[in-house]
Amino acid sequence: KIGELPTGWRVRLLCQQHVCPLPSLFSSHRGGSDHGMTGCNTIGVSRPESAGPVSARNVRRLLSFQRYLNSSQFLRGIPASDPLSYILDDDYTGQAKLMLEKVGNWNFDIFLFDRLTNGNSLVNLTFHLFNSYGLIELFQLDMVKLRRFLVMIQEDYRSQNPYHNAVHAADVTQAMYCYLQEPKLAQTLTSCDLLLGLLAAATHDLDHPGVNQPFLIKTDHYLAALYKNSSVLENHHWKSAVGLLRESALLSHLPTEDRSERLGSLILATDISRQNDYLSEFRSHLDKEDLCLTNGGHRHFILQMALKCADICNPCRPWKLCQQWSEKVTEEFFHQGDIERKHNLEVTPLCDRQSNSIANIQIGFMSYVVEPLFLEWSRFSDTRLSQTMLGHLSLNKQGWKEGRDKPDATNSRASEEQRTSVAKDSNSRVLPQGSKGS
Ligand SMILES: [Zn+2]
Repeated sequence: KIGELPTGWRVRLLCQQHVCPLPSLFSSHRGGSDHGMTGCNTIGVSRPESAGPVSARNVRRLLSFQRYLNSSQFLRGIPASDPLSYILDDDYTGQAKLMLEKVGNWNFDIFLFDRLTNGNSLVNLTFHLFNSYGLIELFQLDMVKLRRFLVMIQEDYRSQNPYHNAVHAADVTQAMYCYLQEPKLAQTLTSCDLLLGLLAAATHDLDHPGVNQPFLIKTDHYLAALYKNSSVLENHHWKSAVGLLRESALLSHLPTEDRSERLGSLILATDISRQNDYLSEFRSHLDKEDLCLTNGGHRHFILQMALKCADICNPCRPWKLCQQWSEKVTEEFFHQGDIERKHNLEVTPLCDRQSNSIANIQIGFMSYVVEPLFLEWSRFSDTRLSQTMLGHLSLNKQGWKEGRDKPDATNSRASEEQRTSVAKDSNSRVLPQGSKGS
């Protein structure tokens, strides 16, 4: 019997990259078989890589009603038809729930959470955060609409992108939550700020094509023309998010106010090419000590900075997470470079696998983009979490340098970090992983 399977067998299942989709309390595809589709088929339709070249996105749109049905069944708690799957499913669900109890920990492993939730990390994490903040009750959100909205968001991320996919969005949302919990923000942010902050994090890269803005411009992509070559991707993410909000009617009962503009202003802040503008404004506020979080404009600015930090916080995570993200983002960059080479376009330097290495890309990114931002953030929010992030950043940079200079060293990096962590004295700036929640 499956219920009597040795734990090791289940662990092996969990370690597979793609756990075979099972009907799940945590699955957005629950009840698929009730509509004449097996769980696997439902997943197949919702995931472009297995749906083949025939406009998977349009198929997903057409299946919007299907998603609605699935969501309804989730909320009505209709049990899975296959008791065998249900037993295994309980195992996943239980572990995922345990993880959510520690969702504020900085060492939260989003990759594991994604496997435990059958690839539904964004839906489950965001739903959990909305619920735990009491936003559902406060804003009288329809739970079916909310779940349907989150499923649509998750499905509009392209799962074939190695990096810019729904797991990245879930990771950014988790990081955003950690920042929202920081004392200065927790004491001053309104429920509306929290709602917008989480929404912006979950949608900030919606429908990312897996290539950058210069690529869209030089290939005359319609999005580049539509947004006049300016924050092309970010504008698209924002407009896509607004479209899904309308389609789901999640907030249709609330006054419109400036919600859409605020959401846009948060998402647009993630445009890395405008980093210096935001950074100098942040620095100027910190120098003058004039940030007043009772002021709505200042709170909004801090939300922008928090989202920017959340978006590029990979190098501030523990080494094992940092390393996985680095591999994924490099794979996406190099894939763009390969397309450019194949079509005789100028190869973007960052995307050229012939002249670049993962270590060099990371060291440059950490030194010129991440470090300056997180140094200012830690001036604003001088907490244990900020020191932990800077500690990881410094260790990880060292790790990439060792890997570059001595290729074999990278693999032993994790155990090395553990040794460093154990050896540190209590005055060290490097605090234990996951110290945030303690
Ligand atoms: Zn992003």
